[in-house]
Amino acid sequence: MSKRIFGMVAAVCVAAVIQVGLAAQGRGGRGGRGAAAGGDDEAVPTEKQFAESAEAQRLVAEAMKIAGSDLAPQAKMFCTATGPLRLALARQAAGLPPVPNATIEPTRVFDNMYFIGMTSQNTWAITTSAGIILIDTMNSADEARDVIVPSMQKAGLDPAQIKYIVISHGHPGQSDHTGGALYLQKTYGAKVLMNPADSSLVLPTQRPDRPLATPDMAAADGQKLTLGDTTLTLVHIPGHTPGTMGVIVPVKQRGTPHAVIVLGASQMPTRASLQQFEHVFNDFAKPQKVEAAVNMHAQGLQDDFAQLETLRKNPNGPNPYLQYGPERFSRWMDIMLECGRARLAAMGR
Ligand SMILES: [Zn+2]
Repeated sequence: MSKRIFGMVAAVCVAAVIQVGLAAQGRGGRGGRGAAAGGDDEAVPTEKQFAESAEAQRLVAEAMKIAGSDLAPQAKMFCTATGPLRLALARQAAGLPPVPNATIEPTRVFDNMYFIGMTSQNTWAITTSAGIILIDTMNSADEARDVIVPSMQKAGLDPAQIKYIVISHGHPGQSDHTGGALYLQKTYGAKVLMNPADSSLVLPTQRPDRPLATPDMAAADGQKLTLGDTTLTLVHIPGHTPGTMGVIVPVKQRGTPHAVIVLGASQMPTRASLQQFEHVFNDFAKPQKVEAAVNMHAQGLQDDFAQLETLRKNPNGPNPYLQYGPERFSRWMDIMLECGRARLAAMGR
């Protein structure tokens, strides 16, 4: 990853050009918003720093040891100078042109959890005995009305049943996860939850053409959110933004219970951020036997487009999101932490 590529990404974002998925995650990298935004520091080492730090390379070797042979490809993907990149940034880094943004066929990933959204970013709809919980809301009222609502209907879900909306995170002056919330809040009376560390930054800086929802409830680490027969665990995973949240979801696969974690973002650019991820993985995810991670931008953690297509083509076949099982996924999380430690070491943090 060269400085030039990061510079390009930052320049595009500063110009507020709406282009496939350049809206938020990882935009700009090094020093873009920095500590002034309340610790929202996405710094990553250069490839040279990463390769030349003996301590970083020792930690990479440690990650590869945890990976063994069965998780080696995942470890190689995570243990890079940037860590996992979402689609638009990965394409930029590879020198490829952006792909046009498109709505993805809504996909039932588990009995009670649906992928709804676009190639650039998405939402997750969780069905319960008493209504629907939505994670994130895409960019705007238009996308809520023209993408989320019809995609839910196509999947057989009634948007009027959305009771809660959990916002994974928000960026000042940006709306890629938060923009549709006000429309859904006003139209269906859904209650919006967001971590105050982010809402206090985004509400004062909202764009007049993208008004944001004022949260009805604060989201905090370890908080339980119960709707009908389903209880989610909200977890605080700061780093990409100060208030980034994750959600542990008890899902069912043809009636059998499993647990997955929705990661609002996966950057851990400071020691404190890494420690918080470690706490969330060890104290919440592992005890709840989480065995898969998904995120809010497809392709960031795995080949989501292919996996979603597999599910649509063969809904009764094996679920690619349940390929690990809890033991291997526990190592998957340890690998992610070890690679985060390696990046910190390369930056001398
Ligand atoms: Zn983001």
